[in-house]
Amino acid sequence: MDITNIIRPEIKAMKAYPVPSSEGYIKLDAMENPYTYSDELIAELSKALAQAPLNRYPDPNGHGLKDDLREAFDIPQNAHIILGNGSDELITIIMQAIAKPDAVVLSVEPSFVMYKINALFSKVRYVGVPLNEDFSLNLENTLAAIKKEQPSVVFIAYPNNPTGPRFEREDVLKIIEAAPGLVVVDEAYQAFASDSFMDLAGSLPNLVVLRTLSKVGFAGIRVGYGAGCPEIISELDKVRPPYNMNQLSITVAKFALHYKQSFEEQAKKIMDERERMRTALKAYDQITLFASEANFLTVRVPNAPALFEALKNNMILVKLLHGVHPLLDHCLRFTVGKPEENQAVLDVISQFFES
Ligand SMILES: *Cc1c(COP(=O)(O)O)cnc(C)c1O
Repeated sequence: MDITNIIRPEIKAMKAYPVPSSEGYIKLDAMENPYTYSDELIAELSKALAQAPLNRYPDPNGHGLKDDLREAFDIPQNAHIILGNGSDELITIIMQAIAKPDAVVLSVEPSFVMYKINALFSKVRYVGVPLNEDFSLNLENTLAAIKKEQPSVVFIAYPNNPTGPRFEREDVLKIIEAAPGLVVVDEAYQAFASDSFMDLAGSLPNLVVLRTLSKVGFAGIRVGYGAGCPEIISELDKVRPPYNMNQLSITVAKFALHYKQSFEEQAKKIMDERERMRTALKAYDQITLFASEANFLTVRVPNAPALFEALKNNMILVKLLHGVHPLLDHCLRFTVGKPEENQAVLDVISQFFES
């Protein structure tokens, strides 16, 4: 007997989420913040961690973490907050909560893959509306699909991953207005962007704003949060595993918010580097450069797999997007790292196109 026959066929047909080994590489594939803390801050954090009540289950409100998030990120008073083990978990929770037999979830494509994957896990029908060639939103098609499919949830990454651009605020507002169900505005890259929907969280009944600490320096602690009106957040909270946040992550997150200025300065450095990279890459006729309000740049080149290999041979790991979606033909995405890491990328690109 093949024991795996008990597994759902659509799961058997999948591949596990690929996380390539990055040992020894300049790691520019996963939008991590390259910076860490000063020795003084690390010493202080160690003390805080030593005092974390490891023998106790974590408090669902994160021992004050929700209040700290509200204060640090201007979450409106009328919004309620849900904490997630990364915003990935919040996507899972939303999907589980809405997974009626006939439910539909809609997103644009290409976008964050976890929307579609979680729909599959929860047996919810997924509809993807293609973006325009320049990765802008096709508002007409999106609104038509919303009207036809009546989705329970629409996911909009704002700015969008893996493409880079932030959609027009007006367009997203029109989607929120037209949607018969929830609209989740996923602001994973908010620290690098020029706009946010957080001001409307709690005021628009069908809006949930997702955020994460992952892209600003804390991918390792897995802390995400969602903000929306109390009616919907309290329903989502029923699906949340009661002890989904752990004491160590809560301690680090509270510490991080206390020293928020430190990661804000890092985000600023990353944005400056993003613009330096953009200017350097613009000089190449062979490169199509897409707009980005995130901590990565997505480019199209004549032969993306070859450039990917050239970078890899020089111990630089980026994300090859070629093959992921037709609109991503010959695209690569690289995270903006430290100046010397970015320079290493530019050096390889220069050699690659000059040889
Ligand atoms: C990285 C990312 C997330 C997931 O972040 P975690 O909090 O680390 O789970 C969610 N949405 C988008 C668009 C992302 O790029």
